Amino acid sequence: MKILVMNAGSSSQKSCLYEVVDDRISEPLWEASIDWTRRQGFAEFEVKTATGAVLEEEIPMQSRTQAIAHLLETLWQGKTKVIDLPAEVAVVGHRVVHGGQDYRESVRVTAEVKAAIADLFVLAPVHNPANLEGIEAIESIFGKDIPQIAVFDTAFHSHIPDAAAIYPGLYAWVEKGIRRYGFHGISHQYCAQRAAQILDRDLKDLRLITCHLGNGCSLAAIRNGQSIDTTMGFTPLEGLMMGSRSGSIDPSILIHLMRQEGYTADRLDKELNKESGLLGISGVSADLRSVLAAMDTGNPRAKLALDIYIHRLRSCLGSMLVSLGGLDALVFTAGVGENSAIVRELACQSLEFLGLKLDLEKNKNRPVNLDIATPDSTIRILVIHTQEDLAIAQECWHHCSSKAD
Ligand code: ADP
Repeated sequence: MKILVMNAGSSSQKSCLYEVVDDRISEPLWEASIDWTRRQGFAEFEVKTATGAVLEEEIPMQSRTQAIAHLLETLWQGKTKVIDLPAEVAVVGHRVVHGGQDYRESVRVTAEVKAAIADLFVLAPVHNPANLEGIEAIESIFGKDIPQIAVFDTAFHSHIPDAAAIYPGLYAWVEKGIRRYGFHGISHQYCAQRAAQILDRDLKDLRLITCHLGNGCSLAAIRNGQSIDTTMGFTPLEGLMMGSRSGSIDPSILIHLMRQEGYTADRLDKELNKESGLLGISGVSADLRSVLAAMDTGNPRAKLALDIYIHRLRSCLGSMLVSLGGLDALVFTAGVGENSAIVRELACQSLEFLGLKLDLEKNKNRPVNLDIATPDSTIRILVIHTQEDLAIAQECWHHCSSKAD
């Protein structure tokens, strides 16, 4: 059985084709992406296959749907061809960023689900429209009958208790759907399951903090295999300092800027989401690698950016720790979490008083899916390579196999 995964972002579309062989999902047979940001009016395509074929091209961009169609044609045409006919794809899984309060697990896409994704455009104005566009593009290419599964980034957090999910503003806000939803749920859930496998423990017995540190950053406190608290909130802007997002700040700063400097909502949105965080403070880049390189040349703003990043990370770790009431394992994942030994080391230093001990050698040795705590550490420390697309494929497989039972 072949499973196609569609992962649409604000400026990109990534896609993978997996095959289920003997009840196991293979490495991707085909991986493709479209980037719309590099050159105005053009879409940049990159396709590679498990057998080593590579296609890179840039074509004038008419519409996103047309670009997706072009991308998918490389599955059955040209040098990256891995199937003979579109009909070989049995099911398509989509990462859908916002599922609101109603979608607590992945679902088969129906007209009702599509309408719900559209109703949530106001809460995820960049991502949900791209996700729906992807679903509709698949319908037009593969026909309306192909099973499509929506896997929501918010679903894993949908059991967070009201005390953690509801903002202490007006009760009327709750009735308007203003509450903490949390994001990166597919990654947090995948890492929790993988952590249980690596530790050879039952997920239900583990208290975990998963640190998804990429361009966007969030922590999740996980007990009994469920997220009970997380740092992102109503939108992905809340919580940790990120590449170009500020994370949590005093809301009165916004009121001040509106009153004193006439800021509009659009300007606030742009500054807080695109020009803040590591980029805003360092003035160098949203990419931690460039910030660290600038720090090494003595750039004081780069040093300040890292100091704030670590301070925020430590203080949010404290918050998750107390929500959990204890910790069995701390998990690092995503671009920074998987690759930056210095961020892991500085984050772990603040938890040494609990008996958590990082093995400094293992930490520096590019660990992947490994425990990097010392044997006598009271808390395990794991680095896990997150695989959101594989997790989506697993959800699709789960849906198809439970239907067959
Ligand atoms: P996204 O959130 O867009 O999925 P990723 O999880 O791929 O992003 O993370 C991308 C970020 O990871 C980059 O912006 C960069 O800051 C960081 N990163 C990647 N490799 C390293 C590294 N070796 N050291 C420090 N940071 C890294």
